[in-house]
Amino acid sequence: MPVFISRRITTEKQGSVERPYACAGCSYRAEVRIVAAARGQADGSIVLPASQIRAESEERADAALADEIQALYDLIPCPRCGARSDNAALYRQNTVLIVIGWIFAGLVMALVAYFPAASASPGSDPPIVGPIVWTIAGLALAGVSWHRRKQRIERIARAVEFLPDDESS
Ligand SMILES: [Zn+2]
Repeated sequence: MPVFISRRITTEKQGSVERPYACAGCSYRAEVRIVAAARGQADGSIVLPASQIRAESEERADAALADEIQALYDLIPCPRCGARSDNAALYRQNTVLIVIGWIFAGLVMALVAYFPAASASPGSDPPIVGPIVWTIAGLALAGVSWHRRKQRIERIARAVEFLPDDESS
């Protein structure tokens, strides 16, 4: 008989908020509705009442949802001039840095794997498998990071709806 000493409760939340949007570039103003979804998870001992674990998992889902909405809000491009906020520029800059960082880390590890082994036995063929594996690992991690961040940027088009007030009539 298996003994379950803990249980995990996952809560998914969806929500939408309306916020004022103001472009710093062209002074376009509108209400914007952001729709987002997020997930929270909590583990608890089986002796705790399930309602307590559920409450914690819901709290985490609420916090994750608020984070996601804020992240999407920061990345909204202006519908009139296409400008993005400073936070969006920072987000793109960070994405580039992370991708370069992973590629660089892979190349450094490839060199570390290559040179000591090559100088230890000068006559034989240099080792090639280790350096190749590290290079590929660096490229793969760079690709995953880039893809995750790109997905969030693509999600904005579906998650954000502009509700122009004084501009529409
Ligand atoms: Zn603008």
